[in-house]
Amino acid sequence: MYDIIIIGGNLSGAIAAINAVNQGVKVAIIERHKKPLTPAHCGEAISHVTANILKIDERKCPKNEIRKIRINITNSKEYTINLSKDKIYVIDRNYLENDLLKEAEEKNVDLFLGRRMIKFNPPNEIIMDNKRKIEGKIIIDASGISCIIGKQIGINTKLKPEDIGVCIQHRIQSKSNPNIMNMWWGEPYAPSGYAWLFPINKELSNIGIGIIGGQKLDIKNLLQKYTNLMTNKKYKIINTFRACEPMYKPLENIVINNVMFVGDSARLVDPASGAGIHNAVFSGTLAGLTAAGYIKGENKSLDIYQKLMQNKMKRIKKTYINKSKLTSTKKYNKTFNRLFSTINILNKIIPNFYQNQITKLLEKDIKKIEILKKKIIKNFLDLPNYLYKKYN
Ligand SMILES: Cc1cc2nc3c(=O)[nH]c(=O)nc-3n(C[C@H](O)[C@H](O)[C@H](O)COP(=O)(O)OP(=O)(O)OC[C@H]3O[C@@H](n4cnc5c(N)ncnc54)[C@H](O)[C@@H]3O)c2cc1C
Repeated sequence: MYDIIIIGGNLSGAIAAINAVNQGVKVAIIERHKKPLTPAHCGEAISHVTANILKIDERKCPKNEIRKIRINITNSKEYTINLSKDKIYVIDRNYLENDLLKEAEEKNVDLFLGRRMIKFNPPNEIIMDNKRKIEGKIIIDASGISCIIGKQIGINTKLKPEDIGVCIQHRIQSKSNPNIMNMWWGEPYAPSGYAWLFPINKELSNIGIGIIGGQKLDIKNLLQKYTNLMTNKKYKIINTFRACEPMYKPLENIVINNVMFVGDSARLVDPASGAGIHNAVFSGTLAGLTAAGYIKGENKSLDIYQKLMQNKMKRIKKTYINKSKLTSTKKYNKTFNRLFSTINILNKIIPNFYQNQITKLLEKDIKKIEILKKKIIKNFLDLPNYLYKKYN
């Protein structure tokens, strides 16, 4: 019997595994792909704080530093956010995930790669597509938007079309300024959504569009128009993918009996921007540590994980935009125009105000992780309350 079985070996799953196995427990990962999904279904942009948690430099993970974000709203307004102390990197997620799985394997995590989990018989049994059965004391669902364990234990995981981000992205070869990240909100390229160009270097970029689901739009055509605009029609497509992203509130309960939910499977995604990497890393880390602590008898309940995530979940809930109230794309554009204009005004009064706030929020997460790792509190059960008081 494994102590912990993790379904999904991408970011949140691999991170949970490494953090758990570092505590000396027996861990397995089941991942349906033999190698991390290539190309990575992601714009690959992360903050420097997340990069630190992931030890991007130590891993020698390729990264491009962004110095400016240019935001265009429906061609009527343009805002620029400068990045100084706070940084954004565009990283190579395939490299990173390969490296994380390699590290997990070296630390004796059993990897079942190229294997799909097809059935969960609670509380312990997992059945794979080759009919192999394994058992785990704790099951971590890191299966992304499919939330496969959640579905099997009867959680309502169905999202309304408007609460799903429908995306398409190309990796293109084209000359662009590697220091500037471009985002375009609203028409004509991304009605009720946004388009992005995230440079990897001066020759390569991720260029994509994500819009609210349920609209009858040809997103491939929209992306072609946006790509023409951004490259002056001089580009070569290297690869293309389509993907979906949960743009809703997090699951109410991210711990149910012996099952924990992390990353996209817990819907820990910023519902306005679709950013989910930081939350996948943060939740995966906390879940791995909490699960290992429980196995070792250091904490009596897995609910500590839910408690530690509570504030972040509240914040995501607050950011959630009820799209049925944004009955027209006009209202949608107005909402985001107001948001970016407020950020712009605040940044003019206090330079880098917005960026600093984001960095501070993310740095709180690092502190929580550090404390949990060091277990500096004698009575582990008091840890959530201590962290609440200190960092929220
Ligand atoms: C187009 C797009 C662009 C994005 N860009 C950004 C960005 O720039 N910055 C950012 O912060 N976030 C971005 N995100 C969000 C980010 O990619 C996700 O939040 C993040 O990948 C979540 O990681 P995860 O490990 O929880 O889930 P996933 O990355 O979805 O991993 C889930 C894993 O589970 C596996 N799996 C699923 N079912 C099974 C099964 N039955 N058996 C075995 N394995 C299974 C899958 O194969 C997969 O490897 C973007 C998302 C999209 C769609």
